[in-house]
Amino acid sequence: MRILLSNDDGILAPGLAAMHRAVAELGEVIVVAPSHPQSAAGHAITLRGPLTVQQVHLGTGQEGFTALSIDGRPADCVRLAVRKLLPAPVDLVLAGINAGANVGINVFYSGTVAAAAEAAMLHLPAVAFSAAVGDQEVDLPRVARLCRWVLDRLLEWGLQAGQLVNVNIPVLGPHRPRGVRVVPQSTAGVQDAYQPQEHPEGLESYRLGDSFNFAPTDESTDVVCLEEGYITVTSLKVDMTDRARHTELLQAGKTWPDLPEL
Ligand code: MN
Repeated sequence: MRILLSNDDGILAPGLAAMHRAVAELGEVIVVAPSHPQSAAGHAITLRGPLTVQQVHLGTGQEGFTALSIDGRPADCVRLAVRKLLPAPVDLVLAGINAGANVGINVFYSGTVAAAAEAAMLHLPAVAFSAAVGDQEVDLPRVARLCRWVLDRLLEWGLQAGQLVNVNIPVLGPHRPRGVRVVPQSTAGVQDAYQPQEHPEGLESYRLGDSFNFAPTDESTDVVCLEEGYITVTSLKVDMTDRARHTELLQAGKTWPDLPEL
């Protein structure tokens, strides 16, 4: 199996190396990642200016591997790799392991999910992996083992072209997570607050607060299940069409009057 691995925390992120270690034996793993951290880059791509590709060697000894570093966004990395850099098609695209959960509406801001979504747009099966961060440092070897275990199940059950799966690992205590929950994405808002900032020239200035707490939400969503200590698995879709509303608009459209004079 040929796997393309990317992330949004950048080529030097420990989560990328941990994911590489976790999947190396599955086949050929090609790593293409942003040269600098790109968290919350969302699905941005670079329209103007070149994308520079550099080969780098990461890790040491038996765990060392070669990767391509690109001075662009996560979606740029996957897009450029698939469209141009890779000599042969890949079977699977993975993103992560992100330092920080990507659940609820944060999925829209996430560069990790965007890297996987870009692959789905290119009709490849894709999985994004993120680890919730608590008070302690993320135990990457354990998180990576869990990511691999989830990936093995997904592969066993069949990942099809264009399918996009978002996996989040909860904060790990001394024990295993409580289990796995296949859950929908929460759409609850984030209760953050913009803090007024001093500006050197006295202009009005704000900074987004650090706390990313979600508003209370349904128990059966990714946000709540992750918080409760479950691994969450959420199937996402690139097609954002609201089918029910679409049908309503189609019905309404039958009676739309002629366009106004311009
Ligand atoms: Mn990140």
